[in-house]
Amino acid sequence: MRRQIAAANWKMNCTFQHGEKLLDEILGAKIALQTHQRVLFAVPYPYLIMTRSEVEEELNYYAAAQNCYNKQSGAFTGEVSAEMLHSIGVLYCIIGHSERREYFNENNMMLAEKVSLCFENSITPIFCCGESLTIREAGTQNDFVATQLKESLFHLPAKKIRNIIIAYEPVWAIGTGKTATIEQAQEMHQHLRSVLAGQYGTNIANEISILYGGSVKADNASELFNCPDVDGGLVGGASLVAEDFIKIINALK
Ligand code: PEP
Repeated sequence: MRRQIAAANWKMNCTFQHGEKLLDEILGAKIALQTHQRVLFAVPYPYLIMTRSEVEEELNYYAAAQNCYNKQSGAFTGEVSAEMLHSIGVLYCIIGHSERREYFNENNMMLAEKVSLCFENSITPIFCCGESLTIREAGTQNDFVATQLKESLFHLPAKKIRNIIIAYEPVWAIGTGKTATIEQAQEMHQHLRSVLAGQYGTNIANEISILYGGSVKADNASELFNCPDVDGGLVGGASLVAEDFIKIINALK
């Protein structure tokens, strides 16, 4: 079975102390993950080492970064490289979240560089794609997300891309309380898989986990995750409430 993943994205929320408490509460639920399941905590940079050591004893729970820079190293004050993340044992990193695309002008080309640097440093990228409301209303969402994949990922050889995680996050559903319907989610996930299959073949496309993100909540996670092409979720708001995120983990296939 494909990896089923619940990924928490804390964004720029929580003090260190609150973050520690949140992790303790979630890990305290002692949810034993099956071999095909993963839980990731994408926390702010200063909390990565703490998170890594909190999850160390837990099977299939991991710390993740929310971003890295698109250059290897050098005079880029304030930035964090994939190599630095690797050096503290971080194995996952979100790339191309819509908030980074919108507020930090990240484009498909820069994201292609970030994805490559992640792989060079043994970090699995969680690559985000998704359309704005304007694009959805114009009905061009399928072409839009296909271009995002092509421009940021299709330089990768099959042996690398098979290990990527993709998160489909319709921008109109992020933090808005407006979730895509299960039909919209399944349709888009199937489309993304067919775009991957067109480039890399069906076997590789069927190995890649595609998460849904956009107002995943404790009470809608099960029906979303039960769609055949939805392999879990990237969760913002609801990942900050222990009780809710525990329910979301329990909703994994
Ligand atoms: C996100 O942060 O990627 C996200 C989907 O946020 P929310 O769950 O709050 O919509």
